Amino acid sequence: MAARNTSSNDVTTGRLPRVSHGRGSYIWDTAGRQYIDGSGGPAVYCIGHGDARVNAAIMAQLDRIAHGYRYLFEADALDEMTAIIAAGCGGDLSEMVFVSGGGSEANESAMKIALQFHYDNGEPSRTRFIARERSWHGNTIMTTALSGFAARQAAFAGALPEVGRVSPANAYRPPEGVAPDALVPWLAAELEQEIQRLGPKNVAAFVFEPVVGAAGGCVPAPPGYARAMAGVCRRHGVLVISDEVMCGSGRTGVWRASETDGIEPDILTIAKGLSGGYLPLGAAVFTRRVGDVLRQGHGGPLTGHTYTGHTACLAAAVAVQKIISDEGLVQRVAERGPQWMAELARRFDRFDETGDVRGRGYFIALEFVQDRATKQPLDPARRLNDRIRAEGLARGLICYPVGGNVDGKAGDFVILAPPYNATDAELDEIAVKLEAAVDAALAG
Ligand code: PLP
Repeated sequence: MAARNTSSNDVTTGRLPRVSHGRGSYIWDTAGRQYIDGSGGPAVYCIGHGDARVNAAIMAQLDRIAHGYRYLFEADALDEMTAIIAAGCGGDLSEMVFVSGGGSEANESAMKIALQFHYDNGEPSRTRFIARERSWHGNTIMTTALSGFAARQAAFAGALPEVGRVSPANAYRPPEGVAPDALVPWLAAELEQEIQRLGPKNVAAFVFEPVVGAAGGCVPAPPGYARAMAGVCRRHGVLVISDEVMCGSGRTGVWRASETDGIEPDILTIAKGLSGGYLPLGAAVFTRRVGDVLRQGHGGPLTGHTYTGHTACLAAAVAVQKIISDEGLVQRVAERGPQWMAELARRFDRFDETGDVRGRGYFIALEFVQDRATKQPLDPARRLNDRIRAEGLARGLICYPVGGNVDGKAGDFVILAPPYNATDAELDEIAVKLEAAVDAALAG
């Protein structure tokens, strides 16, 4: 019997193409078909594929040593990446732990740092986390528990530790009966209530994505939201963890996504665009204030893996970040992102099913609905998001369609997250191909 390496995508899309190679914004399969990468995979490949400069930096590191074990050695790439992240985050966010498993491990580290902070600070009762509905924080048991993403949780529900829960901050789909200008105070009051329910001295941290990714479809929080939520947290000694795994590292047109929201979190996580997918890397970044407490308590954070600070992964990320900086790519995303979003909104307006076009920078989603006026979602049995994925692939387009954002089952949207260095012609090609894919998917 043939060996199998399965993915749930096999079930939803049938046979997957076999990857051959990638250059810039394009990927080719072994049958010679070409795909434009409209979503950077799952918002990862921020400078495109096959960049010779990154490959050379990885090779140069491998020629020296693949991995100088972090708990025995310092390393040049480690110092360089630490400085790049501290500069990108700004303010007091200058300390960090690196993981080489990506966003889930970064969020696990963030949670352990929060728990240790309170323990070392003389408040060991603070062990509970509060997170939002329609969020995704990762694939480990604890980060899946933290997430509000029914479809990805159901099979594990009985084993997931309980997490405090509050509503998403989605101006397109506010809680019933809440007017747009009442949304932020309503959400802040809800957080206050949840903290009271759990007991203020029991809550370790509130975790949120400044722009929700796969669970909501590039949903930016309304203005003032993050400041209001951080205000509630500060009043109760609750730490703020900003999950910027998907929306960070320049994707929204600023290096640190929460900067746009006007807050400095206590802990922040990044992955994906940090190393642009060349090698796996994530980081949990924290303030000096948090770091000082950890140092006094235990000499530093009690979190680490065999591959913490993997040298070759760091060398890859340094090369990616240098390209982003040298070529002014975050600035390019900041300038071109809003124009491209407006172009997409105009192009997709012809579909009655286009409910919302939203996002920040090169992190844009189109949400499709049954009825624009009522925002009623399409029947999930139509599996529109799966159809768009398949129709996109058939036309040589990679995009990131997801379902279930409305109630865990219903809801269809597509994320576009192209490389920061995609040309204008490539952005047009993505839009044209997606339009054709949506047309075909809606007709099917
Ligand atoms: N947090 C967010 C916001 C994410 O979007 C993801 C992945 O999509 C994760 C965490 C988990 O990251 P990873 O898949 O790299 O473990």
